[in-house]
Amino acid sequence: MKIGCWVLVAMLLTGCAGAGSNSDAGLGRDAASQHALRVAHHQSIAITREEALGIVEDMNAVLSIQDNAADVVCGVEFVLSGGLSAFSLGTGVISSTEDFASLYTRVPGEIKVVNMINYCGRFGAFLGCAPVPGESLLVVRSSRRVEGALWAHEYGHNQGLSHRSVSRALMNPVVTSRARVVNQQECKQFEAGGGVSYESVYVGGFVMFLE
Ligand SMILES: [Zn+2]
Repeated sequence: MKIGCWVLVAMLLTGCAGAGSNSDAGLGRDAASQHALRVAHHQSIAITREEALGIVEDMNAVLSIQDNAADVVCGVEFVLSGGLSAFSLGTGVISSTEDFASLYTRVPGEIKVVNMINYCGRFGAFLGCAPVPGESLLVVRSSRRVEGALWAHEYGHNQGLSHRSVSRALMNPVVTSRARVVNQQECKQFEAGGGVSYESVYVGGFVMFLE
């Protein structure tokens, strides 16, 4: 299993991108597939249902709005499922494979919000961490302008997507609020939903690799 993530230093690059440039264009069109997301957060993390709703709405905008000629309009719709749940397992700080595996396997939900991710296949400071493919992802709170793209990026890893080092690609390993472009193949995998086989995840134990 591979682990994908976005590095914290990338946050420094987000300052110059335009905020509020997204319109509602593209939303509400045919949703080829709908993915219900259950959001859990460590009890020490402050996040409201309204904030989570806004982030999920941004995920939809990231995929459905065509940002440039290379960007496909992807008919995937994410829906926040129920209320947010708080968990007390661990400290909310991910510093080892064990920390990651514990939350990954024992906390229900597709999105798990933690305090800090210091380990994601290697040591560092990460905004998100997700098995490729996988059933859930870990993220930290960050600039509201990038959280939609961050959640979508990590969800992409769960859907089996690797990094793509193309300017403005959503799957670019560097996060910016302008990284929102998905190609046709990536869109297909986003649409695949539960079609991804997860059987390989636990083969050989919880071994993680970083791309
Ligand atoms: Zn990644």
